[in-house]
Amino acid sequence: MSLRIVVCVKYVPDATGDRKFADDLTVDREDVDGLLSELDEYAVEQALQIAEEADDAEVTVLTVGPEDARDALRKALSMGADKAVHVDDEDIHGSDVMATSLVLAKAIEKVGYDLVISGMASTDGTMGVLPAILAERLGVPQVTLLSEVKVEGGTVTGRRDGDTASEQLEASLPAVVSVTDQSGEARYPSFKGIMAAKKKPVEELELDDLDIDADEVGLAGSWTAVDSADERPARTAGTIVKDEGEGGKQLAEYLASQKFI
Ligand SMILES: Cc1cc2nc3c(=O)[nH]c(=O)nc-3n(C[C@H](O)[C@H](O)[C@H](O)COP(=O)(O)OP(=O)(O)OC[C@H]3O[C@@H](n4cnc5c(N)ncnc54)[C@H](O)[C@@H]3O)c2cc1C
Repeated sequence: MSLRIVVCVKYVPDATGDRKFADDLTVDREDVDGLLSELDEYAVEQALQIAEEADDAEVTVLTVGPEDARDALRKALSMGADKAVHVDDEDIHGSDVMATSLVLAKAIEKVGYDLVISGMASTDGTMGVLPAILAERLGVPQVTLLSEVKVEGGTVTGRRDGDTASEQLEASLPAVVSVTDQSGEARYPSFKGIMAAKKKPVEELELDDLDIDADEVGLAGSWTAVDSADERPARTAGTIVKDEGEGGKQLAEYLASQKFI
C-alpha cells in the first residue's frame, strides 16, 4: 500500500521586506510579498527523499493561508511533491496556533496520511509548537526536531541532536515528525519540475469541507490575541566616542553606564 506523506508548508511574509500589523493587530499579509517558509523546504526535501526510498509513496503538501499561499504550494510541487491542498477561508483570518492546528488536523484527516512532516518552526511566528499540537489533535506519536529521518516498514526513526547528546528516536506510523535545518540541503526546483508543477492538482478546501464552524477559528476561536502593538522606534544616531587621548576611558564609562560591563 502506498505510503501517504503530508507535508505542512507555511506561506510567510518575506523577512527582507517591511512587516506591519494590520488595523485589527493581526500580521498584515495583504500588502507584503510572501514565500514558502525556508524552514519548510527542509520538510519537503525529507518527504521527497523518503518517497524516493519507498516502493510506492505519495507526497501531498498542505497549507492554511490566504489566496497567495498558492505560491508556496507551487514551489513545493515544483520541488517534486505530487499534489497540494490549500485551505483558504476568510473566517480563518486571525487564527492563532490552536485554531490553525485544528484546521490542519481536520485537513490531514480528510486527505489521509501515514506520516506528517513539518518544519521545525515557521520563519514568521517561530513558535515551534505546531507539530506537537497537531500530533495531540490527531492522537498519534510525535517525533520532533529531527536532523535525520528514515521510514522502514511501519516505523519512522530519526536522530535529534541536542547540546549535550544525540538521541535516536522511533515511533510507529501514523506519526507526526518535524525536521530541522540540519536535515539536509533542500533541492532547487528544476525547469522540468517548474513546468510539471503547473499541471499538478491543487485541491481548494473551505471550513465547510472540514466540518469546522466559523467560531472555532479566527479571532473568535483563538486562545490568544494581541492586545496592543507599537512600531519599533526609528534608530537613533547613537553615541560617537572621539579618541582625543581619553577615548578608551570614555568608552569604558559608556559601557559601564549601560551596564554592559
Ligand atoms: C491568514 C493567516 C492569518 C493569521 N492570523 C493570525 C493571528 O492573527 N494571530 C495569530 O496568533 N496567528 C495567526 N495566524 C497563524 C500563525 O501565523 C501560525 O500559522 C500559527 O499560529 C502557528 O504558529 P507558528 O507559525 O509560529 O508555528 P510553528 O510551530 O513555528 O510552525 C511549525 C511548523 O508548522 C507548520 N505550519 C505552521 N503554520 C502553518 C500553516 N498556516 N499552514 C501549514 N503549515 C503550517 C510548518 O511546517 C511550520 O514549519 C495566521 C495565519 C494565517 C495563514
